[in-house]
Amino acid sequence: MNNNNKLPELSIVVPCFNEEDSIPIFYTETTKIIKQMKITAYEFVFIDDGSTDSTLTKLQELNTKDKKVHYISFSRNFGKEAALYAGLKKATGKYTAVMDADMQDPPALLPEMLKSIKEEGYDCTASRRVTRKNEPVIRSIFARLFYKIMRKMSDVQVVDGARDFRLMTKPYREAVVSLCERNRFTKGIFPWVGFNTKWFEYENIERVAGTTKWSFWKLFKYSIDGIIGFSTKPLAWSSFLGIFMIIISLAFIAFIILRKLINGDPVQGWASMVCIIIFLGGLQLFTTGILGLYLSKIYIEVKQRPIYIAKEEK
Ligand code: UDP
Ligand code: MG
Repeated sequence: MNNNNKLPELSIVVPCFNEEDSIPIFYTETTKIIKQMKITAYEFVFIDDGSTDSTLTKLQELNTKDKKVHYISFSRNFGKEAALYAGLKKATGKYTAVMDADMQDPPALLPEMLKSIKEEGYDCTASRRVTRKNEPVIRSIFARLFYKIMRKMSDVQVVDGARDFRLMTKPYREAVVSLCERNRFTKGIFPWVGFNTKWFEYENIERVAGTTKWSFWKLFKYSIDGIIGFSTKPLAWSSFLGIFMIIISLAFIAFIILRKLINGDPVQGWASMVCIIIFLGGLQLFTTGILGLYLSKIYIEVKQRPIYIAKEEK
């Protein structure tokens, strides 16, 4: 934390997982922009999210060189959401920016974002990419589908292509940190806390170094977390599905009784019976599975484990 009694004007929170090559570039470029903005009281809060490369060494070097650089190093990889939480908790600035280390969040946007907050009275400025250039096609399709489902299911409006790149005021940051849930889905938490948000749009930029930390499977699990974390509609839908099936079965029963009265009772329909049993069995397992998903989230929450464990903090 900053040793001055005066609060820094700007805090930059940067989650880093194996970003040894990106960090020096990020630090140099962002510092340049901050100097151009004529801000002297600022701080960097880097979070080393259990990196296995020399990310921590890079951060230690920066911290020795520049006292404005602070960092937290996690005891293992806790995920970007945990890293963001840790960083926002540690940040002290009047305004706080959240940025990726890989330069996909252009620091050149910072002056304009700060201006919107200071002059236009917004509490937060957020960015969304309007193109998904350089991204695998399949991933884009699933991402779009996810946003569509999420908007239908949840009361919070998750914006398509929203990045975590944001600049926020102190009350906004404190509101985000006050949500201390373990299943952190930041894309939902940001809209959930409310306030006035201004959106910046920009085209997708490729990372400067290293590779993306998101596999398709990781993204899939993340989207399920998002839906479970911000909507209870799947639970309601399971019940509706049950009622719907009961109505169909009642109609079926009526049909069978009528047929017996008219035609007698010819023994037939074993194949269709097996299909119905398997179908209903599947449906039941599916809805129990939905229940299970919620239960597992509750299980994680009630254990009240810390969101992250820091092994080193400067
Ligand atoms: N990140 C992290 N922990 C993780 C995965 C990623 O702190 O478990 C950081 C990563 O170092 C980067 C940011 O989160 O600064 C965004 O990650 P990435 O660039 O891999 O995601 P993408 O931009 O492809 O969505
Ligand atoms: Mg990236």
